Amino acid sequence: MITFYPGPSKVYPQIETYLRDAYQSGILSVNHRSEPFMQMLAGTIKILKSKLAIPEDYEVYFVSSATECWEIIAQSFMISGFHVYNGAFGEKWMEYTRKLRTGVSGRYFDCNELPATDFAKELSANEIICITHNETSNGTVIPDAFFKELRLKTGNLIAVDATSSMAGVALPWTDGDIWYASVQKCFGLPPGMGVMVVSPAAISQAKEMGEAAHYNSFLFIRDNFLKQQTPYTPNSLGIYLLGRVLEQVPSIAEVSEEIKQRAKDLYSFFENVGFAPLIENDAVRSDTVLAIKAEGQRLSTIKSAAKSAGIVLGNGYGSWKENTFRVANFPAITSADVTALTTFFHSATVV
Ligand SMILES: *Cc1c(COP(=O)(O)O)cnc(C)c1O
Repeated sequence: MITFYPGPSKVYPQIETYLRDAYQSGILSVNHRSEPFMQMLAGTIKILKSKLAIPEDYEVYFVSSATECWEIIAQSFMISGFHVYNGAFGEKWMEYTRKLRTGVSGRYFDCNELPATDFAKELSANEIICITHNETSNGTVIPDAFFKELRLKTGNLIAVDATSSMAGVALPWTDGDIWYASVQKCFGLPPGMGVMVVSPAAISQAKEMGEAAHYNSFLFIRDNFLKQQTPYTPNSLGIYLLGRVLEQVPSIAEVSEEIKQRAKDLYSFFENVGFAPLIENDAVRSDTVLAIKAEGQRLSTIKSAAKSAGIVLGNGYGSWKENTFRVANFPAITSADVTALTTFFHSATVV
């Protein structure tokens, strides 16, 4: 089976070897306050910052998931949040923030449009702007220019959910303060770990708040990471695999270019075989998760025919469940996989 599911998604085939290496190296049984673990953690962070071109003064932490980051951000960085969203993940993030903070507001925008930045002038201090870079539910992306414009308009911190784009496309790091992702999407790894990238300004704000009441309070996590340790016994295997995969992949500039070109090719391919993208405005179409329109009988026929041909398409998500399917365009997916996909869609049975 070739999977185009946008998470959990296809893992790099090298994972099989790396798993055996991890076992044989003994790293899976070492104490997480011991030298070998600390070296591995430092090594993974170093290669991550280098391959993803993360600014020197931004810090990296590993947590359990992107969902945990929703909680960490609400609890350790903000008095309140301002959520700008157009789909299911952005909305869910806002709902989580609302459980922990009062006065949380949101601005919904149409998925064919760019959000306006007029709200930026009306924010109160310590109101964090929360934006989903790549909305996995409907296949939209926020272009870099938007983050740049927002940065110029406000000094407030900007938190960005880049769960389905980090390690797939280049991110405008310095135009955001708290970026996070899960490893089961563009990183091509098995699920079970989150990556958080934090700016010096966000670290200062967390220090000012001084929140320390939870096992996953940001300052507690950071104190441990400064010693190359983790607050609780970590996912050592996940950290090991992440380091190995990052050693193997090209720089993000190179990966990003390939992914963007392949997205363009795939969108035009689908249009040519009679499947329109859900998003009409190509300026906000995602490069890493494609949402393609198909309804009713046609949708179920495609999905089951694909399955018989050894191809797993992603189901639609949330309110787009019944009228789209999704195709991950993640780096672990090869050109041969894409050829299998396009060959299938060319076949008479579905078109
Ligand atoms: C997958 C996803 C999440 C949730 O990730 P978990 O690893 O399940 O916590 C959050 N936001 C976006 C945009 C996602 O695509």
